[in-house]
Amino acid sequence: MKLAELSDYIGRLLEVSRFRDYCPNGVQVEGRSQVLRVATGVTASRRLLEAATDWGADAIIVHHGYFWRNEDAAITGLKKRRLAHLLQHDISLLAYHLPLDAHPQLGNNAQLALRLGLLECGRFGEQEIAWHGELRQPQSVRQFSEHIERALQRTPLIIGDRERNLHKIAWCTGAAQSYFEQAIALGVDAFVTGEISEQNVHVAEESGVVFISAGHHATERYGVQALGEHLVQTFGIEHRYFEQDNPV
Ligand SMILES: [Zn+2]
Repeated sequence: MKLAELSDYIGRLLEVSRFRDYCPNGVQVEGRSQVLRVATGVTASRRLLEAATDWGADAIIVHHGYFWRNEDAAITGLKKRRLAHLLQHDISLLAYHLPLDAHPQLGNNAQLALRLGLLECGRFGEQEIAWHGELRQPQSVRQFSEHIERALQRTPLIIGDRERNLHKIAWCTGAAQSYFEQAIALGVDAFVTGEISEQNVHVAEESGVVFISAGHHATERYGVQALGEHLVQTFGIEHRYFEQDNPV
């Protein structure tokens, strides 16, 4: 299919125009006009670009692309080498940030909920990006922690009472630790996100609400894969997800 058709389709699917974001969503670097092979990954690192190129990708779709607000606009150093790689190989880079967190079926929060057994009741936070709901089966923090470890292949960092029973949960993939107090105000038993900050530990202790840091990368690796598989089913393109392990 044509690159323009692909980006138009994803733009409508993820309702890109609905979001105020910190980076451009859609085609960030334009490559060849025909797309058959689509590689996906969480972050457009050099490692991902090289793996996708070796596989013969025409386009790469990521959650974390380039050109973030407040970053230096000059194309030098690491940024120059990443862009040069894409341009030399005529491979497109498409990035979807907040729209890919938010999509009700393919998004990172929806896909994390599927894996952790969470049922959505509503949204909260800036642009309603975070979710709250309940565990399909109430369980102790210890049991939920073991479930997360099996589901994400990563040991979560738990701040709080491990014997506490969990029912109501709020969650937001990635670096959403600043939503912790909004989650507490919703009356949840625990908040799950990717990253943690120093002050979250004190707030967890003083509120009694459990903070679960399950990994920025680990919580955000599923949306882009779901999008890739959706494109396979819709257009018959080839898709391969490239896991680039990241301990954060
Ligand atoms: Zn992220």
